[in-house]
Amino acid sequence: AAKRLGGRRHAFFRKELADQARRHLALDGDLRSALAHGQFRLHYQPKVSLIDFALEGFEALLRWENPGQGMISPGEFIPVAEETGFIVPLGDWVLDEACRQQRAWLDQGLDPVPVAVNISPRHLRHRTAEDFRRIVDRHGLPPGLIELEITEGAVMQDLDHALAVLGALKAMGIRVAVDDFGTGHSSLSYLKRLPITTLKIDRSFINGVPLEREDAGIVTTIIAMADMLGLDVVAEGVEKTEQANFLRHHNCTLVQGWLTGRPVPADAALDLLAKRLRETA
Ligand code: C2E
Ligand code: MG
Ligand code: MG
Ligand code: MG
Repeated sequence: AAKRLGGRRHAFFRKELADQARRHLALDGDLRSALAHGQFRLHYQPKVSLIDFALEGFEALLRWENPGQGMISPGEFIPVAEETGFIVPLGDWVLDEACRQQRAWLDQGLDPVPVAVNISPRHLRHRTAEDFRRIVDRHGLPPGLIELEITEGAVMQDLDHALAVLGALKAMGIRVAVDDFGTGHSSLSYLKRLPITTLKIDRSFINGVPLEREDAGIVTTIIAMADMLGLDVVAEGVEKTEQANFLRHHNCTLVQGWLTGRPVPADAALDLLAKRLRETA
């Protein structure tokens, strides 16, 4: 009887897997058609200085404007795109679109801030620094206006390739940030060797600040480590004034979060750039 039960359980899991594969395949088809029909958009979330609340940069975040379902957030489709490989053409589109937008802002006489684009592990593995450079060059954009965000996992999956790509990007002047820092498995000896410019402290640690002792300790340690390695540091997911006060007190002055600005469509991002131009004029 036990064997029969086990067999049935096995069949159950096999069916679950088959259903999931079918769902992913269907979603992959929808994603490809969404790209062909221009249903993807970038929203831009400000990175802000806690010293003077000046706009210091944007992170481009992908949105799917689905005619039937409305706005779909990346958490619902990026993992599947990563699994099927569609993330490579989709990621290329994101970088191209961010560059196109930067070019348009430059041409409108605005003074753009760097825009960061998320590069998934599989995208990084399948592209060279030259591939990324070609997209930036297509728009005649100064490389310093583009930043790539990668996770520790992306680096560790193929360390030699990642080191080569990141080194070449740095030489070209394209900035590279390690995203969600503290949640991955990169060791300090690798971190020391990585040609990067910025660490972004993961939201999960910022969440517990200032009350949770462990989170506060982790955050101050990352800030000290970034300082020691000569890297910029950005706190992600800052929602409360107490978090901002803690960060400012510990010399982390760049933040990104709901407290200083939600992700907004390009036209609202333009308003932020225009306001910045008026304030610095
Ligand atoms: P991420 O790169 O760590 O981006 C930050 C996420 O945190 C964004 O979610 C942003 O909206 C959210 N966030 C910002 N501030 C706050 C805050 O104060 N509180 C809270 N609760 N959340 C905040 P989003 O846009 O849903 O993106 C989720 C993830 O999807 C991103 O995490 C990134 O890993 C991935 N992603 C987004 N766009 C792209 C893309 O174009 N390409 C790739 N490969 N991945 C992307
Ligand atoms: Mg990011
Ligand atoms: Mg992040
Ligand atoms: Mg995150």
